Amino acid sequence: MPIGPVLVVGGGVVGLSLAHYLTAAGIEVEVVERSGLASGASWGNAGWVCLSHSTPVPGPGVVRYGLRSLGRPDSPLYLRPSADPRFLAWLWRFWRSSGESTFRRGYAALADLNRPTFDLFEELADAGVDTTLRRPGLVHAFLSADEARHHLRIQQVMASGRYDMPEDVVEGDEAHRLDPALSPEVRAAYLVRGEGVLDPRRLVESLGEVVRDAGGKVHEHVEVTGFRTVGGRVAGARTSAGDIDCGSVVIAAGMWSSRLLRHFGLRLPLQAGKGYSFTVELETAPEHSLYFGDRRIVASPIGGTTRLAGTMELSGDDRRLNWQRIVAIARGSRRYLGRWFEDQDDLPTLIRDPWVGGRPLLPDGLPVIDRLPGRDDVFLATGHGMLGVTLGPATGRALADYVLSGRRPPVLAPFGFR
Ligand SMILES: Cc1cc2nc3c(=O)[nH]c(=O)nc-3n(C[C@H](O)[C@H](O)[C@H](O)COP(=O)(O)OP(=O)(O)OC[C@H]3O[C@@H](n4cnc5c(N)ncnc54)[C@H](O)[C@@H]3O)c2cc1C
Repeated sequence: MPIGPVLVVGGGVVGLSLAHYLTAAGIEVEVVERSGLASGASWGNAGWVCLSHSTPVPGPGVVRYGLRSLGRPDSPLYLRPSADPRFLAWLWRFWRSSGESTFRRGYAALADLNRPTFDLFEELADAGVDTTLRRPGLVHAFLSADEARHHLRIQQVMASGRYDMPEDVVEGDEAHRLDPALSPEVRAAYLVRGEGVLDPRRLVESLGEVVRDAGGKVHEHVEVTGFRTVGGRVAGARTSAGDIDCGSVVIAAGMWSSRLLRHFGLRLPLQAGKGYSFTVELETAPEHSLYFGDRRIVASPIGGTTRLAGTMELSGDDRRLNWQRIVAIARGSRRYLGRWFEDQDDLPTLIRDPWVGGRPLLPDGLPVIDRLPGRDDVFLATGHGMLGVTLGPATGRALADYVLSGRRPPVLAPFGFR
């Protein structure tokens, strides 16, 4: 059974969480990141560690919503009209995964994986990781009580006792008082207590520091370009800085993982679910994480500032930042946060760090956390979609168990290679 040294491709939240659990178990680990740590989707995301919102992306009503938005560039869900057969095949599978029962199965699988999440974050902190996690709770804010009730009812049914959901929404002027940043236009809201938020970039950089302190090697600005095999087993990675020997490989390269899989003759239908964020200094920053339900925009209190994020754009895996989307998020947030800008021409001076990132997304919206078929020396952890920060530690721990024991932990059964 080949184990170390284990070479982890990808210095995002998933790769470094895994690297931490492996080094903590005394395994020799080398992480190879082609740019800086957290330079992929793990950089500017919203930083939620949020169990009650951990759902697969395809779900009842999502496809209809997407079709209505076809070609509308300011829509929260944007599908680029395309005749590319691979994209159409992906959409077909996405649609097939959006039925009620598939969605519920996916939700339950994610809930099982997430069960130890907050304990794991505590353990990471005990191990010296600067997780920056706080648990102020999450306020769902709506412009109408009907929408709020509809949303809460769906969440209550899905959660079915797993999470502590409020019984009803708060209405009228009470609603915006749930958080000081909310505007009086918010007419209904509810608070899910205990949900967390963190600075994702700091988490990942700190994971890198702890891995290094524990004796792991973390190579930055080194790209894995291929693999060397001897007698059918992986013996090393070819990189832009020369070959690195190893006994096992874990591909945790986010949305770029499918390219690396081709070296093993496999395909993975990954699409980049592009999302946008930026940071703003509001006069009154939110105390909680905020979800603007009617517009699918989120606001996170991170380091004294507010990070606004949103959009699910399926338009290929380039990282082109479409300024229109930044404007759409800013405009969409105004009814919830008050008029924090008057003229959109002022936005470039008001916002910091406009960012686009690709959520690694498989058509059924669930991650793959598995060994490659027919091999015991190459593993894969990607496809975490909207949930990589939340699921990073749970993924890392369960996959480390798998790599070390050769036996798949039952919690990973729903996340097999497919
Ligand atoms: C707008 C937005 C908001 C989000 N908000 C949240 C949130 O609030 N909570 C949450 O849980 N999730 C959120 N997510 C999702 C989360 O960001 C991702 O699921 C997560 O970052 C994926 O992590 P990863 O490690 O798999 O991939 P990445 O962070 O993309 O890391 C992969 C790394 O692999 C490297 N790499 C690629 N190819 C190679 C190669 N050949 N050689 C070496 N290195 C390579 C890349 O440079 C990259 O750094 C959000 C995403 C977006 C876009």
